[in-house]
Amino acid sequence: MALESPVVQAMLEQALAEAETCHARRVTALHLVLYVPDAEPALRPLVAELSHGTPAQDAEVHIRHAPSNFICWNCCGLRFTSQDPDADCPNCGESGLLLPPDIVFALERIQVA
Ligand SMILES: [Zn+2]
Repeated sequence: MALESPVVQAMLEQALAEAETCHARRVTALHLVLYVPDAEPALRPLVAELSHGTPAQDAEVHIRHAPSNFICWNCCGLRFTSQDPDADCPNCGESGLLLPPDIVFALERIQVA
């Protein structure tokens, strides 16, 4: 799953808006939840590049891996989680539908100074 800079930019803008709300001078850490483990090598440099020159520059990036959420439309709409991005339904063995399909990561919280 591709990680594109507009989604990273949107996350940073959210973090910067939160920092501004609490009158912080700097964002010292970004805590992210990652739903696609493969995206981590691409995520870190993008955050560094896009935060350059903003109050989030040099923020520590903490990444927590979360299992992907799936739903199976083959059997009974079973919901299940898996670390595998192409997981099969544990009930019927058909491939599950990834939920939500376009979210690679989410901003969990920030730390500011
Ligand atoms: Zn199923």
